[in-house]
Amino acid sequence: MTEKPETSKSTSPETNSNDLLDLHRRAIAVDMHADTTQRMVDEKVDLMQRLPDGHFDTARAREGALDAQFFSIWVEPQLFGGGGSGAMKRADVQIAAVRELVEQHPDTWEFAGSAADVRRIVEAGKLAALAGLEGGYAIDEKLENVERYYKMGVRYMSPAWSVSTSWAGSSGDEVGVTRGLNDFGKQVVREMNRLGMMVDVSHVSDPTFWDIVNTSSRPVVATHSGCRAIANVPRNLTDDMIRALAKTGGVVNVIFYPEHIEPGWSDKKKRVDVEIATMVRRASEEEKGDVAHKKIARDEVRRKEYAKRLPPVTISRLVDHIDHVVKLVGIDHVGMGSDFDGVQATLSDLADVSQLPNLTRELLRRGYSESDIEKILGGNMLRVMEAQK
Ligand SMILES: [Zn+2]
Repeated sequence: MTEKPETSKSTSPETNSNDLLDLHRRAIAVDMHADTTQRMVDEKVDLMQRLPDGHFDTARAREGALDAQFFSIWVEPQLFGGGGSGAMKRADVQIAAVRELVEQHPDTWEFAGSAADVRRIVEAGKLAALAGLEGGYAIDEKLENVERYYKMGVRYMSPAWSVSTSWAGSSGDEVGVTRGLNDFGKQVVREMNRLGMMVDVSHVSDPTFWDIVNTSSRPVVATHSGCRAIANVPRNLTDDMIRALAKTGGVVNVIFYPEHIEPGWSDKKKRVDVEIATMVRRASEEEKGDVAHKKIARDEVRRKEYAKRLPPVTISRLVDHIDHVVKLVGIDHVGMGSDFDGVQATLSDLADVSQLPNLTRELLRRGYSESDIEKILGGNMLRVMEAQK
């Protein structure tokens, strides 16, 4: 990858678009994180229809030659509780929605629980659906619930989203600054290792990160994170963290969200959030639906205003993060985690899943070989999934 494009044999900037698409299609593309699940539950969107909004549906996934999608089972603790029956129910209905999609469209979708499943499903020309828990709220501080969710099909879990649990600190709140995993948290990680559920460090606090890599006996992943050396946000990984994660055999799946990859964008967004606070609050008050619909109304305002008020960011910046991981730890430890449908801003040239070939184009332009690209798009993650047992 250090070669200049002009000196590379197999790849050149002149690669025509048919060759590009062929190469892109030959890879098994695995996206580690999309929040489309909440749209399925709260907006009742039909992913078999081409949707006029959002970032993901079946038609666009096909156009982008995506092969496998991890659907995020995200429990927002402020709305559904940091544990208890509310959090569990919120997780359960999302898993049920993914199951319903594949059951109703067995010719197009199939649920996958392993790398072997993904390979078989892709070989059959179908899309693989997988599930990962974003935040450990739904296990309700009970070890046996880890197995409950494994049996329901969940194949990764991050111990905390932006709100710390009693057993794991988050990068998103004050207590997380010093909170790592307690004894129960370490038991959870060992139980995940026993079952073959990947441990996800995206969103966790720095102390939690270190406790996870020191506890897990299996490769650890970041399903949607960036490099702090480029974009200094607490949610991203430092170089030391990337090295430690790679040492476990794991993969950093780079997020596509401008806030976490473009330097300074997060601070600009915070200023915009202040400017639009009244508009956001008004939209929420005017929405008469439930808490989930009020959130949709707030996010709609954010989406429009961010597009107007914040600078555009392109795939080039995303690939800077991929380059950075590769320079630190090599080609075997990087992948992709879009966060599609979980963010109110996208890269201008990767605005939805249909534009995924643009990522391959930029990787080629920077001199990555076809085998490198296969690893980045999904090969590395299939290896990690195989190594969980
Ligand atoms: Zn997230």
